[in-house]
Amino acid sequence: MDKRRFLKTSGTLITGSVLSRMFAEERRSAHRTNWSSNLTYSTDHLYEPKTIEELQQTVKRCSKLRALGTRHSFNGIADSRENQVSLANFGEMTLDRANHTVTVGAGVRYGDLAPYLDHNGYALHNLASLPHISVAGACATATHGSGIKNGNLSTAVAAAELVTASGEVIHLSRERDADRFHGTVVNLGGIGVVTKVTLLVQPTYKVSQVVYQNLSFSHLEKHLEDIFGSGYSVSLFTDWQNHQATQVWIKSRVQAGGASKPAPEFYGARLATTNLHPLTGHSAENCTEQLGVPGPWYERLPHFRMNFTPSSGAELQSEFFVPRDKGYRAILAVEQLRDFITPHLFITELRAIAADKLWMSTCYERDSMAIHFTWKPEWDAVKKVLPMIEEKLAPFEARPHWAKLFTMPPSRLQSLYSKLGAYKDLLSQYDPSGKFRNEFLNTNLFGA
Ligand SMILES: Cc1cc2nc3c(=O)[nH]c(=O)nc-3n(C[C@H](O)[C@H](O)[C@H](O)COP(=O)(O)OP(=O)(O)OC[C@H]3O[C@@H](n4cnc5c(N)ncnc54)[C@H](O)[C@@H]3O)c2cc1C
Repeated sequence: MDKRRFLKTSGTLITGSVLSRMFAEERRSAHRTNWSSNLTYSTDHLYEPKTIEELQQTVKRCSKLRALGTRHSFNGIADSRENQVSLANFGEMTLDRANHTVTVGAGVRYGDLAPYLDHNGYALHNLASLPHISVAGACATATHGSGIKNGNLSTAVAAAELVTASGEVIHLSRERDADRFHGTVVNLGGIGVVTKVTLLVQPTYKVSQVVYQNLSFSHLEKHLEDIFGSGYSVSLFTDWQNHQATQVWIKSRVQAGGASKPAPEFYGARLATTNLHPLTGHSAENCTEQLGVPGPWYERLPHFRMNFTPSSGAELQSEFFVPRDKGYRAILAVEQLRDFITPHLFITELRAIAADKLWMSTCYERDSMAIHFTWKPEWDAVKKVLPMIEEKLAPFEARPHWAKLFTMPPSRLQSLYSKLGAYKDLLSQYDPSGKFRNEFLNTNLFGA
């Protein structure tokens, strides 16, 4: 991805047909960026239908259209040169106690859904590091949290409703549609506009969170699986210096008898006695409560609280998924680049994710460890370091996060997905004219 494509300027690519206001509200603004403002969308045509009928009309009338969630992706995956459609008005949430599911409109964010579920006695199996993202957008890109037994967030999807390129409404479910369903959950925005998602839920639970400081990487050689398995969800943070994780965040489900007292040491790392932010020196005010204090699952599984800015704010992100049994060797490989990485890095996070069956998932048929980089907003430098990281991780068949920054050649990326051909068949079936295909998909899935 070069800088020209990455830092798109607004106002130069105002294309697309002039569309009637009769079928959906269209908003125009000169400067529309993603959450971190590293990307300006290439169109100022944004449709915001209020009903499924309005959406169907919008889809029928646009020759090119891309669904937009809460704009948290760092690359051009949600971008369009012509038209985007936001389903922010689709905010319904319906709990089905008999089937242990909740059906949410595509505009619903995890931060809206979680308190609603908890209030009704239910929970999701996992959450990402922040609650601000939409369910539909997160599932489209295989967004994940951590936990050796936890699949990414899209593995909770039991059914979905989509409007396909012809304007038809289709319903797909795990039970009825087997293979086809596995191809449409992590859809990369290409199959259609998702209007509703049905998620599996479970009885609500409490989680306590503790943080340990300074865990030597040498323990990961023999105990990587034990360390990631020491809690329900475990994250290791590192700046790649001193062969160590600066912080280990362990989130544990609280059992009936209450949270057990945390040990003062964990593989030689010391228990923190104050709340910490993953970025040394940042206030922990916007982080979820630590120190072993039990709380609702949704106030502990994300690192960042709903009403605060997550992470650093002005930042870039990249992430690569490797098979977990090769995790330690992958860490050593990246560590060789530490002096290229650290000057441009806020922090790296290592997480574990269980294998799944979703064709375009970054964890497809692989128990995975994800190596994440929160970069300073220094794209010129970061884009030079990324190819070096990708080269070091090539022996581990590292798959890049669909919504974050990578520089891997399309042919290499395509070789990492054995079901890509089947996914492309679904694209041509549901979207024969390529209405939902944007530059990101054309380059990465169809380019050489
Ligand atoms: C601070 C921060 C922290 C993050 N933490 C994590 C993390 O912990 N784990 C992780 O895996 N990722 C993380 N991410 C990345 C984030 O989860 C993904 O970018 C996710 O896709 C964002 O969802 P969104 O709603 O913002 O979607 P957008 O960025 O708006 O869109 C993403 C994709 O979803 C598609 N899409 C959106 N809505 C629909 C719809 N209704 N129908 C069809 N397609 C649709 C878009 O077309 C696009 O392809 C983080 C990002 C930020 C900014």
